[in-house]
Amino acid sequence: MLTTKLSGVTAPKNAHEVALENFDLAADALNLDESIRAMIKYPERELAVSIPVRMDSGKIVRFQGYRIQHNTARGPAKGGIRFHPNVTIEEVRALATWMTWKCAVVNIPYGGGKGGVTVNPKELSLNELERLSRRYTVAILPLIGPEKDIPAPDVYTTPQIMAWIMDTFSMMKGYPVTGVVTGKPISLGGSLGRNEATARGVFYTTRSSCEALGIPLQGARVVVQGFGNAGSIAALLMHEAGAKVVAVSDTRGCIFHPKGLDIPAVVAFKNRTGTVAGFPGAEKVTPDELLSLDCEVLIPAALENSITADNAPNVHARIVAEAANGPVTPEADRIFDEHGIFLIPDILCNAGGVTVSYFEWVQDENHLFWDENDVNSRLEKIMTRSFRDVFQIHQDRKVNMRLAANMLGIGRVADACRVRGLYP
Ligand code: NAD
Repeated sequence: MLTTKLSGVTAPKNAHEVALENFDLAADALNLDESIRAMIKYPERELAVSIPVRMDSGKIVRFQGYRIQHNTARGPAKGGIRFHPNVTIEEVRALATWMTWKCAVVNIPYGGGKGGVTVNPKELSLNELERLSRRYTVAILPLIGPEKDIPAPDVYTTPQIMAWIMDTFSMMKGYPVTGVVTGKPISLGGSLGRNEATARGVFYTTRSSCEALGIPLQGARVVVQGFGNAGSIAALLMHEAGAKVVAVSDTRGCIFHPKGLDIPAVVAFKNRTGTVAGFPGAEKVTPDELLSLDCEVLIPAALENSITADNAPNVHARIVAEAANGPVTPEADRIFDEHGIFLIPDILCNAGGVTVSYFEWVQDENHLFWDENDVNSRLEKIMTRSFRDVFQIHQDRKVNMRLAANMLGIGRVADACRVRGLYP
């Protein structure tokens, strides 16, 4: 477990501490002076909100929520909203920080933001979820807007929730504002290709990594932890490209087949039953066994800190593609370096989602919509170019891919601050 020394006692490091540690490594490698570090290391603005919601029983329950803008030097804040029981302000800070560097790595004109509510949406009725989403929108209203801060979906938030956010914001304004949020349903100004975009980005960067390392994608063994939006579609794209997806998991179980799972059938099974567990013909494995399977590509697509100093030594992948945000801790990074495991860092690997969110916002603001091929080919261009940019730094500076990506992202944000005159 990742730990920090607190007066002799060891305590787990939170996601924000991890983000700060990685920031310092990149800032040192870039030789950034103290004044710029002070400007870009910490969030610009943090809002904590109380969200009273009337439950179906008539009782009012209070939920805790946040919206954080980490940095807006390169453009309006952009970042998802997470509804999850483990949401904390530190987690939202970390996710907002990563969004700043991520938007800069793929060079789209946004800063970083993130929001969250500490709630288990699976325990709410649809009506309760709608009331929560609308009340949260009103609570963060002073911060959001198409020119200021544009939310999107994240873990356990959906296109329907984005539609409620758009509707609530528009009611307050008195006219429709589609550009206030991305990841909306297509009928409300959503972009074709947005739903698959994160996974497509994971696929493009994994394909580029395989090319760079001389690993054929055809027949490559792939393991996916977390079979949600990002993980299940990434598995499907790998399967369609001829890779062999040998194991996948969700919160309720892990399944394995040495010859490769029939991924379209696993998707259909999960849609029917709500889980991959119990998929006919597959072997059951434990979460630890899943992470230690022999494979060419391991895709952590669940939550933060799933690969730590404890389990990283057991990882036997050639490539780890971070579909999730922050799944690999800095200690695990060091173990991967020692073991020669090639990491595609989150701020590069999963940036396809925010890139197509950017396309959605551009389409909404221009009232002109693109076809799906247009979206996908523009995404492919951005993701392969961004991979090349990060890989170049990795080779030229002889640093690992995480540090290379952070150097690219943080360097671009520092440059933006410098040319704007935001620091001496
Ligand atoms: P999701 O809710 O659709 O899926 C998450 C999946 O992970 C679920 O299937 C859940 O059962 C599973 N899971 C949770 N804990 C697990 C565990 N301990 N072991 C195995 N499985 C577990 O969420 P998502 O949108 O796919 O997001 C997943 C990750 O990808 C998050 O870190 C998110 O921040 C990141 N991400 C998502 C997007 C996007 O556009 N969806 C974009 C960028 C980054």
